Amino acid sequence: MRKLLFQGLVRPPFTEVAPAISAEELAELSARLDAVARRRLGRGLAIRQVDAGSCNGCELEIHALHNAFYDLERFGLRFVASPRHADVLLVTGPVTKNMAEALARTYEATPEPKWVVSAGACALDGGIFAPSYAVVGGVGQVIPVDLHIPGCPPTPADLLKGLVSLLEPR
Ligand code: SF4
Repeated sequence: MRKLLFQGLVRPPFTEVAPAISAEELAELSARLDAVARRRLGRGLAIRQVDAGSCNGCELEIHALHNAFYDLERFGLRFVASPRHADVLLVTGPVTKNMAEALARTYEATPEPKWVVSAGACALDGGIFAPSYAVVGGVGQVIPVDLHIPGCPPTPADLLKGLVSLLEPR
Protein backbone atom coordinates (compact mmCIF):
# COMPACT_ATOMS: atom_id res chain seq x y z
CA MET A 1 0.00 0.00 0.00
CA ARG A 2 2.81 2.39 0.97
CA LYS A 3 4.55 1.45 -2.28
CA LEU A 4 1.44 2.37 -4.30
CA LEU A 5 1.07 5.68 -2.48
CA PHE A 6 4.71 6.49 -3.16
CA GLN A 7 4.34 5.62 -6.85
CA GLY A 8 1.29 7.87 -7.05
CA LEU A 9 3.36 10.75 -5.67
CA VAL A 10 6.40 10.38 -7.94
CA ARG A 11 4.80 9.30 -11.22
CA PRO A 12 3.85 12.03 -13.69
CA PRO A 13 0.08 12.35 -14.28
CA PHE A 14 -1.31 10.09 -16.99
CA THR A 15 -2.85 12.38 -19.56
CA GLU A 16 -3.58 12.02 -23.24
CA VAL A 17 -1.59 14.12 -25.64
CA ALA A 18 -3.58 16.98 -27.07
CA PRO A 19 -5.13 16.48 -30.53
CA ALA A 20 -2.99 17.63 -33.48
CA ILE A 21 -5.50 20.32 -34.43
CA SER A 22 -5.07 23.70 -32.70
CA ALA A 23 -7.91 25.39 -30.80
CA GLU A 24 -7.95 28.25 -33.34
CA GLU A 25 -8.12 25.89 -36.32
CA LEU A 26 -10.88 23.91 -34.63
CA ALA A 27 -12.92 27.04 -33.86
CA GLU A 28 -12.53 28.26 -37.47
CA LEU A 29 -13.57 24.89 -38.91
CA SER A 30 -16.54 24.59 -36.55
CA ALA A 31 -17.71 28.13 -37.26
CA ARG A 32 -17.51 27.39 -41.02
CA LEU A 33 -19.65 24.29 -40.57
CA ASP A 34 -22.18 26.22 -38.51
CA ALA A 35 -22.35 29.07 -41.05
CA VAL A 36 -22.76 26.82 -44.08
CA ALA A 37 -25.39 24.67 -42.33
CA ARG A 38 -27.39 27.78 -41.39
CA ARG A 39 -27.10 29.14 -44.93
CA ARG A 40 -28.30 25.90 -46.50
CA LEU A 41 -30.76 24.69 -43.89
CA GLY A 42 -31.60 27.79 -41.85
CA ARG A 43 -30.33 26.09 -38.67
CA GLY A 44 -27.59 23.90 -37.26
CA LEU A 45 -26.83 20.46 -38.67
CA ALA A 46 -28.71 17.43 -37.28
CA ILE A 47 -26.88 14.11 -37.58
CA ARG A 48 -28.20 10.61 -37.07
CA GLN A 49 -25.33 8.22 -36.53
CA VAL A 50 -25.84 4.64 -37.71
CA ASP A 51 -23.48 1.89 -36.64
CA ALA A 52 -23.92 -0.67 -39.40
CA GLY A 53 -21.50 -3.17 -37.82
CA SER A 54 -18.45 -1.23 -36.68
CA CYS A 55 -15.83 -2.33 -34.13
CA ASN A 56 -16.78 0.91 -32.28
CA GLY A 57 -13.42 2.57 -32.96
CA CYS A 58 -15.15 4.99 -35.31
CA GLU A 59 -17.85 5.67 -32.71
CA LEU A 60 -15.24 6.62 -30.09
CA GLU A 61 -13.95 9.32 -32.45
CA ILE A 62 -17.48 10.50 -33.22
CA HIS A 63 -18.24 10.69 -29.48
CA ALA A 64 -15.15 12.84 -29.08
CA LEU A 65 -16.91 15.59 -31.06
CA HIS A 66 -18.94 16.09 -27.87
CA ASN A 67 -16.06 16.11 -25.40
CA ALA A 68 -14.72 19.16 -23.59
CA PHE A 69 -12.09 19.82 -26.25
CA TYR A 70 -14.28 19.74 -29.37
CA ASP A 71 -17.70 20.49 -27.77
CA LEU A 72 -19.29 20.93 -31.20
CA GLU A 73 -22.80 21.45 -29.90
CA ARG A 74 -21.84 25.07 -29.26
CA PHE A 75 -21.63 25.43 -33.06
CA GLY A 76 -25.08 24.01 -33.68
CA LEU A 77 -24.01 20.49 -34.58
CA ARG A 78 -26.46 18.05 -32.97
CA PHE A 79 -26.75 14.28 -32.89
CA VAL A 80 -30.40 13.28 -33.01
CA ALA A 81 -32.12 10.08 -31.94
CA SER A 82 -34.40 9.67 -34.95
CA PRO A 83 -33.67 9.73 -38.69
CA ARG A 84 -36.86 11.77 -39.07
CA HIS A 85 -35.07 14.69 -37.43
CA ALA A 86 -31.81 14.28 -39.35
CA ASP A 87 -30.15 16.08 -42.26
CA VAL A 88 -27.15 13.75 -42.38
CA LEU A 89 -26.84 10.00 -41.87
CA LEU A 90 -23.33 9.33 -40.60
CA VAL A 91 -22.76 5.61 -41.16
CA THR A 92 -19.86 3.59 -39.76
CA GLY A 93 -18.66 0.03 -40.06
CA PRO A 94 -19.01 -2.61 -42.69
CA VAL A 95 -22.70 -3.25 -43.32
CA THR A 96 -23.52 -6.56 -41.73
CA LYS A 97 -26.30 -8.75 -43.06
CA ASN A 98 -28.23 -8.10 -39.86
CA MET A 99 -28.01 -4.33 -40.32
CA ALA A 100 -28.60 -4.00 -44.08
CA GLU A 101 -32.39 -3.76 -43.91
CA ALA A 102 -32.31 -1.46 -40.87
CA LEU A 103 -29.90 0.85 -42.73
CA ALA A 104 -32.11 0.92 -45.84
CA ARG A 105 -35.18 1.67 -43.68
CA THR A 106 -33.31 4.42 -41.81
CA TYR A 107 -32.43 5.98 -45.17
CA GLU A 108 -36.08 5.86 -46.27
CA ALA A 109 -37.18 7.43 -42.98
CA THR A 110 -34.85 10.41 -43.36
CA PRO A 111 -36.61 13.39 -44.97
CA GLU A 112 -35.21 15.28 -47.99
CA PRO A 113 -32.89 17.07 -48.28
CA LYS A 114 -30.58 14.45 -46.82
CA TRP A 115 -26.95 13.50 -47.15
CA VAL A 116 -25.26 10.19 -46.43
CA VAL A 117 -21.72 10.26 -45.10
CA SER A 118 -19.84 7.00 -44.66
CA ALA A 119 -16.96 7.19 -42.19
CA GLY A 120 -14.04 4.82 -41.78
CA ALA A 121 -12.30 2.26 -43.98
CA CYS A 122 -14.90 -0.41 -43.23
CA ALA A 123 -17.76 1.81 -44.41
CA LEU A 124 -16.09 2.14 -47.82
CA ASP A 125 -15.77 -1.53 -48.77
CA GLY A 126 -16.07 -3.64 -45.64
CA GLY A 127 -12.41 -3.04 -44.67
CA ILE A 128 -10.81 -5.81 -42.63
CA PHE A 129 -14.23 -7.38 -42.09
CA ALA A 130 -15.03 -7.69 -45.81
CA PRO A 131 -14.24 -11.44 -46.05
CA SER A 132 -16.68 -12.27 -43.25
CA TYR A 133 -19.76 -14.33 -44.14
CA ALA A 134 -21.80 -11.87 -42.07
CA VAL A 135 -20.83 -8.75 -44.05
CA VAL A 136 -22.63 -7.36 -47.10
CA GLY A 137 -19.89 -4.79 -47.88
CA GLY A 138 -19.56 -1.03 -47.77
CA VAL A 139 -22.39 1.42 -47.09
CA GLY A 140 -22.66 2.18 -50.83
CA GLN A 141 -23.83 -1.39 -51.42
CA VAL A 142 -27.03 -0.62 -49.54
CA ILE A 143 -27.76 3.13 -49.81
CA PRO A 144 -26.37 5.99 -51.95
CA VAL A 145 -23.38 7.70 -50.35
CA ASP A 146 -22.64 11.43 -50.88
CA LEU A 147 -19.28 11.56 -49.13
CA HIS A 148 -16.77 9.12 -47.71
CA ILE A 149 -14.43 10.11 -44.88
CA PRO A 150 -11.39 7.78 -44.86
CA GLY A 151 -9.43 6.59 -41.84
CA CYS A 152 -9.31 3.70 -39.40
CA PRO A 153 -10.76 5.43 -37.55
CA PRO A 154 -11.08 8.99 -38.89
CA THR A 155 -10.16 11.59 -36.26
CA PRO A 156 -12.73 14.13 -35.01
CA ALA A 157 -10.95 16.77 -37.12
CA ASP A 158 -11.27 14.52 -40.22
CA LEU A 159 -14.99 14.12 -39.50
CA LEU A 160 -15.41 17.86 -39.10
CA LYS A 161 -13.52 18.63 -42.32
CA GLY A 162 -15.63 16.05 -44.15
CA LEU A 163 -18.89 17.61 -42.95
CA VAL A 164 -17.69 21.08 -44.00
CA SER A 165 -16.75 19.83 -47.48
CA LEU A 166 -20.13 18.11 -47.77
CA LEU A 167 -22.09 21.29 -47.20
CA GLU A 168 -19.86 23.90 -48.78
CA PRO A 169 -20.68 24.56 -52.42
CA ARG A 170 -18.09 23.08 -54.78
S1 SF4 B 1 -12.69 1.74 -39.87
FE1 SF4 B 1 -11.34 0.93 -38.27
S2 SF4 B 1 -12.14 1.85 -36.36
FE2 SF4 B 1 -13.76 2.08 -37.93
S3 SF4 B 1 -15.06 0.26 -37.70
FE3 SF4 B 1 -13.50 -0.27 -39.24
S4 SF4 B 1 -11.85 -1.26 -38.06
FE4 SF4 B 1 -13.15 -0.16 -36.60
